[in-house]
Amino acid sequence: MYSVLANLDLEHIAKIIWAIYMVLWAAIRFRPNKKSRKTGISFTNRSPIERFSMAISFTGLGIIPAIWVFTNLLDKFDRPTNFLMVLIGTLTAIAALILFRKTHKALGKMWSHSLDLRDDHKLVSEGVYKYVRHPMYSAFWLWALALPFLLSNWIAGFAGIIGFGTLFFLRVGEEEKMMEQQFGEEYREYCNRTKRIIPNIY
Ligand code: SAH
Repeated sequence: MYSVLANLDLEHIAKIIWAIYMVLWAAIRFRPNKKSRKTGISFTNRSPIERFSMAISFTGLGIIPAIWVFTNLLDKFDRPTNFLMVLIGTLTAIAALILFRKTHKALGKMWSHSLDLRDDHKLVSEGVYKYVRHPMYSAFWLWALALPFLLSNWIAGFAGIIGFGTLFFLRVGEEEKMMEQQFGEEYREYCNRTKRIIPNIY
């Protein structure tokens, strides 16, 4: 075991950390995804822009890093790495996972991967939703920001920021409009108490 580890360079260790991370992220999402399918949708706002931005986000956060990890197609964009970069990337990724889990716990069956309102939708403003109104997007931002530290490749490292950034900025205003239409004054008050993704800042 030790000799196997000793032969791995930092780039390979980071690739393994990335793969474990993807499995854990999927594991956290597995049950909410299964449960949410059983809860009906009363309103949906899956416009072509929303579908396009979900595809861009998935490509940037998942597909492009996977291409770098599993093939050599992007190798000419490799950059050097060091222990500190991989450590910062790993710690940021762990923070993203913890926050991601907490958001699913708080949101329960109100969660959906797109802009939907569930049957009997309730406004969640407790748990991590007390501090910001889009903590799941904060977790995705942490994931996107972890990648340039963790993945020593210019394309794979930055694709997540571009991909998720596109989804976030195209979606967040639409989501807030939808929530305001549904919850009116209750949502406006909630917005007055909270920032979007960074407590007290933004
Ligand atoms: N933007 C939130 C939730 C992402 S999941 C976050 O980042 O944590 C997207 C779905 O969650 C949306 O379709 C919306 O119906 C629902 N949603 C968003 N904020 C909510 C809240 N405070 N309470 C209940 N549902 C919410």
